[in-house]
Amino acid sequence: MKPVIIIGGGPSGAAAALTLLDAQIPVTIVEQKRFPRFRPGETLHPGIEPLLTKLGVLLQVQSAGYVRHRGVWSGWNGTTQFVPYGKDDDGQWQGYQAVRADFDHRLIEQVRMRGAQLLVSKVVGVLTSASDTGAEVMTSEGPIRGGYVIDCSGSTHALARHLRIPIVRYSPNLVACYGYAVGAYDAPTPSIHPDQDGWTWIAEVEPHRFQWTRVTESHNRPARAWIPDGLQALQAEPAQSADVTWRMATSVAGPGYFLAGDAAAVLDPSSSHGVLRAMMSGMMAAHLIVRHLCDRVDARVCAMTYHDWLASWFQHDMAEMSRAYQEARLFGFNN
Ligand SMILES: Cc1cc2nc3c(=O)[nH]c(=O)nc-3n(C[C@H](O)[C@H](O)[C@H](O)COP(=O)(O)OP(=O)(O)OC[C@H]3O[C@@H](n4cnc5c(N)ncnc54)[C@H](O)[C@@H]3O)c2cc1C
Repeated sequence: MKPVIIIGGGPSGAAAALTLLDAQIPVTIVEQKRFPRFRPGETLHPGIEPLLTKLGVLLQVQSAGYVRHRGVWSGWNGTTQFVPYGKDDDGQWQGYQAVRADFDHRLIEQVRMRGAQLLVSKVVGVLTSASDTGAEVMTSEGPIRGGYVIDCSGSTHALARHLRIPIVRYSPNLVACYGYAVGAYDAPTPSIHPDQDGWTWIAEVEPHRFQWTRVTESHNRPARAWIPDGLQALQAEPAQSADVTWRMATSVAGPGYFLAGDAAAVLDPSSSHGVLRAMMSGMMAAHLIVRHLCDRVDARVCAMTYHDWLASWFQHDMAEMSRAYQEARLFGFNN
C-alpha cells in the first residue's frame, strides 16, 4: 500500500499519523524543521485528554510534568472571576500548560517509534494534482509519491496554496502579538482581560515563566516593546506576532487530499482550543482515509463528510466567539 503523505509534524500531523498507523496504513511525514522546534500555544483544554488516550500517548504527556490548571480567570464580564473547566465523578478537570516544543516532540517521537517515516524536508509543490489514485508532492529533497496527502502545515496553508484553494477570511484582520517573561508575577493565571482595543492573556507556562498574548485588529497592534501591565519588571524575551484572522479553506477535502489543523481553518486563540481542534481534525481526516482504503467507502463521500464536519464546528465556534466579542464590543462585532 502506498503511504499517506503528511505535510507537517505538529499536533494535527502527529494525530493523523498515529490514527493511520493504528490501522496499519504506512505514513510518511515531511516536516521542514528538526524537532524539538518552537510553537506558541501552551494552554491545553482538558478535552485533550480523551484524544491523547485514544492515540495511546496520554502517559507520555502526563509524564512530562507540565503545570496544570483548573480553569481560567476571566475579566470578560466586567469583573474578574474564576471560570472552572468543570468536573465529573473522577474530580475537577484540569488543563495543561504544555511546553509546545516538548509536547510536539513527544508526539512525533511516538509516531516515529510506531513505524512512520519522517523526512526533514520542505514541501515546495504538488507534482501531479491530487487524485483518487494518488498524490505526488515535491520536496526540497525530491518528489514523493503517496496514496493520499494530508496537509498539516499549519497557518502556512502549504497545500491549499499549491492547489490554489481559496482561503476565505471571516473576521477583521486580527493579529496576535505574544512573548515570554521570567520572574515573579502575583496575579492569578491563566487570565484573559478584554479592553476597548482587544484582549490580553497571561499564563504561567512553567514555574516563574509567563506567556502573554495580546490580540487586536492589525491597525491597533501594540508597539514592538509593549508588554502587559504587571510583567514589565520581569525579564522579557523579544515579542513575536502571528496572523490569527478567522479563516477557512473553501475546500478542506477533495480527490486524494485532506487539510487538517490550522492548514484547514484558523480562529484566534481566545478559547485556547487550537491544539485540540488540530488533533481532532487530524484524527478525523485519517479516520476517513481508513474508511476509504480499508472499508471501501466512496472517496467522495469521505471528502464530503469531512468538509461538512469541519465547516459545522467552524461555524459553531465562530458564532460563540462573535457573541462574546459582541458583548465586549470588540473588533466591530457590535455593528
Ligand atoms: C499567539 C498564539 C497563541 C496560541 N495559544 C494557544 C493555546 O493557548 N492553546 C491552543 O490550543 N492553541 C493555541 N494557539 C493555536 C495553536 O498554536 C495552533 O492551533 C496549533 O499549533 C495548530 O497545530 P497544527 O498541527 O495545525 O500546526 P503547527 O503546530 O503550526 O504545525 C505545522 C508544522 O508544519 C510544518 N510545515 C509548515 N510548512 C511546511 C512545508 N511546506 N513543508 C514541511 N513542513 C511544513 C511546520 O514546520 C510545523 O512544524 C495559539 C496560536 C498563537 C499564534
